[in-house]
Amino acid sequence: MADGTRALFMLFGGTGDLALRKLYPALFNLYKKGSLSKHFALLGLSRKELSDEEFRAKIMTSIADETADQQVATEFVSHFYWKSHDVNNMDHYQDLKKIGNQLDDQYQTGGNRVFYVSMAPRFFGIVAQNLQSQHVLSENGGFNRLVIEKPFGRDYQSAKELNDQLNSGFQENQIFRIDHYLGKETVEAIPVLRFGNPLLEAVWNQNYIKDVQITLAESLGVEDRAGYYDTAGALRDMIQNHTLQIVSYLAMDQPNSFVDTAIRAEKVKALESMEIYTDQGVKDNFVRGQYAGDEDHPDYRHESGVPVDSNNDTFAAGKIVFNNPRWGKTPFYIRSGKKLADKQGRVDIEFKKPLVDIFAKGTGTTGELQKNVLTLEIDPRVGLSLTINTKDSKQGLHTETVPLDYLQSDNRAAQVPLPYERLFHDILNGDGTYFASWPEVAAAWHFVDPVQQVWDTQQPDFPNYQQGSMGPTAADELLARDGNAWFYRGTK
Ligand code: NAD
Repeated sequence: MADGTRALFMLFGGTGDLALRKLYPALFNLYKKGSLSKHFALLGLSRKELSDEEFRAKIMTSIADETADQQVATEFVSHFYWKSHDVNNMDHYQDLKKIGNQLDDQYQTGGNRVFYVSMAPRFFGIVAQNLQSQHVLSENGGFNRLVIEKPFGRDYQSAKELNDQLNSGFQENQIFRIDHYLGKETVEAIPVLRFGNPLLEAVWNQNYIKDVQITLAESLGVEDRAGYYDTAGALRDMIQNHTLQIVSYLAMDQPNSFVDTAIRAEKVKALESMEIYTDQGVKDNFVRGQYAGDEDHPDYRHESGVPVDSNNDTFAAGKIVFNNPRWGKTPFYIRSGKKLADKQGRVDIEFKKPLVDIFAKGTGTTGELQKNVLTLEIDPRVGLSLTINTKDSKQGLHTETVPLDYLQSDNRAAQVPLPYERLFHDILNGDGTYFASWPEVAAAWHFVDPVQQVWDTQQPDFPNYQQGSMGPTAADELLARDGNAWFYRGTK
């Protein structure tokens, strides 16, 4: 096995919700597939006092759904250790150093260390700084990699401060900023679809593409996350990170090779060419919303934990304009929100119609040529579809539009790695392709900050959309002003 699969994980927030629901099952799958060598150990950390056995019992429960063979599961959890740790207590880092060295020896990890900070964001920088100042990083030639959960700041300034803190101990190529959308099958496939198919890449520009639409819709409301969500909103929670990351893979130019540094350089160029809006530009090009109640469900302001006067956005839509030769005249429309018609993550790429519809004047022609639309389904289905114009089977020449569909089979879906499994795999291999680099995060905040600032200073007219709809009517008008319409209308 490659050395990259040897590692000691130190997981800060080891009994947290994310760790138990997503991280341990992902690691277990890697272990079962042999991508994680037996030379690994995981040290779980939080303030809780637990024995190793109690911690292992939690891991067993966490991986239960992935467990077919009890013996393999037992073997896996034997690599887990617990240490009660307060991230502000320097003595505790001295303990980490000692335990780290012991586990390195015991498991022959080659000194490779992955520090995963799965805690509230206010702790990200503190942990990174203390790891460095207390010399917890391995010093014997193994790698040291820092994994940071979302959110990465709440505006450019706070993100920059956090990044400076991380940089005190880690270089950019050692920092892995998690965006779990980048672990999703369809998103990872975008570069291959584009740069692996001359058929598509040849027309991937403003000459042929009319507009690009990205929808990340959730049917759920705020659930039990009001404490966090009411301080974030759809713009910060979904647009600044996941949506703009997807935009960057769709909009980037072709890198020289498919290595993370080259890809990141092109993604940054694309993000930095997005037009930054003035206050008036924000009003013209962005729409926010908050969901209303219905007979059976409260409105957002009456959800548990939400202040009754909250002006938080549970929906955000906007138009991106690129100042570059590839996209000059082609708008990218983005939207994301809660309590929408469906859970639906997708990209719809609308191509231009032929300049002249010669069939319109043909004998017996009733239809009109439609746009070609390439749809990339991200969630919950994984699939691709391209609508094309052809003739129907009736007598005479009548045009019709048919879809060329690829939908992932259940069988294949069952083989697809979990997003966090892919991301762990890449972290172990030092591959930053599907992680957000600092210049990308910075460019995304530069774009989003002016929108948030206008929203923070102007009183919205909330609530403004029905639960189970696709958002406020203003989001439809945004496209209608350009002579466009959302391709996906929801199934309700
Ligand atoms: P959580 O509150 O469930 O867990 C946080 C952990 O930190 C707990 O183990 C807690 O004991 C520990 N902790 C708190 N204060 C501490 C201190 N002073 N010293 C040591 N340990 C301390 O949080 P979570 O939901 O697991 O989220 C973790 C991170 O993952 C957050 O950044 C969150 O934004 C991100 N995230 C979570 C989810 C999710 O589904 N839960 C999804 C995406 C991103």
